[in-house]
Amino acid sequence: MHSLRKLPKIDLLVAAPELSYLRSALGRSVLTAITRDVVAAARREALEGEEVPELAELVLRVQKAAEKRLKSGLRRVVNATGVLLHTNLGRAPLPAVALENVLRVCAGNSSIELDVETGARCRRGAHAEALLAELVSAEAALIVNNNAAAVLLGLTALAAGREVVVSRGELVEIGGGFRIPDILSRSGAILIEVGTTNRTRVEDYERATGAATALWLRVHPSNFTMDGFVERPRLPELSRAAKARGVPLLEDLGGGLLVPQAAEQLAVGLASEPTVQACLLDGADLVFFSLDKLFGGPQGGAAVGARSLVDRLRADPLARAVRVDKLTLAALEPVLAAYARREYDAIPALRQLRVSIETLKERVQGWRAALGEHGAGAETIEVTSATGGGTLGDGIPSIALAVWTPSPDRFARCLREHAVPIIARIEDGRVLLDARTVLPGEDDAVVAALRAAFEAEGRE
Ligand SMILES: *Cc1c(COP(=O)(O)O)cnc(C)c1O
Repeated sequence: MHSLRKLPKIDLLVAAPELSYLRSALGRSVLTAITRDVVAAARREALEGEEVPELAELVLRVQKAAEKRLKSGLRRVVNATGVLLHTNLGRAPLPAVALENVLRVCAGNSSIELDVETGARCRRGAHAEALLAELVSAEAALIVNNNAAAVLLGLTALAAGREVVVSRGELVEIGGGFRIPDILSRSGAILIEVGTTNRTRVEDYERATGAATALWLRVHPSNFTMDGFVERPRLPELSRAAKARGVPLLEDLGGGLLVPQAAEQLAVGLASEPTVQACLLDGADLVFFSLDKLFGGPQGGAAVGARSLVDRLRADPLARAVRVDKLTLAALEPVLAAYARREYDAIPALRQLRVSIETLKERVQGWRAALGEHGAGAETIEVTSATGGGTLGDGIPSIALAVWTPSPDRFARCLREHAVPIIARIEDGRVLLDARTVLPGEDDAVVAALRAAFEAEGRE
């Protein structure tokens, strides 16, 4: 017990000269809290019979914990996983034109709700929404904070207290806690399940429809597929039946692939992915989609379709709670303009989908060449990338650098510990770096991290 007195006072530790850069980087109060935790841990250890550490050792421990804290914020990383639109890695990388516009517009005040010409107040997002509606040939568009918010708003505004008919095959969970039945119940709508898990027909919807029916909801199954004895009504037939009964048909599309022309040039994995335009043409009255998935923009959600429905969403009090912010609008407008000009290569997510195998092969060979002798410990192999972002697709052929190593976990950790962390995947006991998801300009970071990981391995 006596030796516990050897533990220094918190203030004394925090004032240690070795910690001065951490005091200024984190602020004194944060460093004090970290120091308290370190000392408390040392006290616990001492009570269990451990030596009480010297002052220098405690300073070192505080330093380590504080360094860890410094690194734990939001950071730039390199996505070498081969999963495009990876939700854990921020989905679509922002186009350069979007970033430039954010800097230009948001460094000061902006005209977000002002018509500069007349000086009158105007509606937030009006410009972007008009552009989006034109792009997809819809009567109207509404942009909110994300797609989950758009769907919740749609169900609340159009169906609270009334019935929503959904196929049992589409009562899915997208991930991140987004489950269709839960969103429906939170909106105040009453879920009417129809059909079975594997088969639902138009008649199932029709039989469940009556005076209390507010709408029919169709949901993109996103990240899961069913094979075998399955049946799902085609959108044109379903929308004909809905129109015959005067019931709006809403489609939660998730992915938000926008342009058919771009789609044609996209990788085979997306051949069956419906575009927003196709859904509207096939008769959906309102289509919901994410702006940071296949659309390739900033986080956001859109509802496009019939003006009468979009207006009801806009008028709901919930719309204010899920409204889009100025950073998003500043990033979004240049992306919409790029779509309008058909400059799909300005959108990194689309570029990543379209890049050829030959180009990917050259990049991976470039990494190996730059690695010199270490390159011998790696192979160029054919792999399959995934679209991610709630779009299953069939997988996209890609090229990866494969590293055989006694400890793939340790090698992958070493890549993550690089100044710009490289996120790889481990498959069949190898560390794989898929070139499709590595952005142009990130090759140097990849090579530097690989070199460090190989050198660390050599020291083991
Ligand atoms: C991704 C997805 C959502 C959620 O979209 P967020 O923009 O992440 O809120 C909703 N529905 C479907 C079908 C999706 O794929």
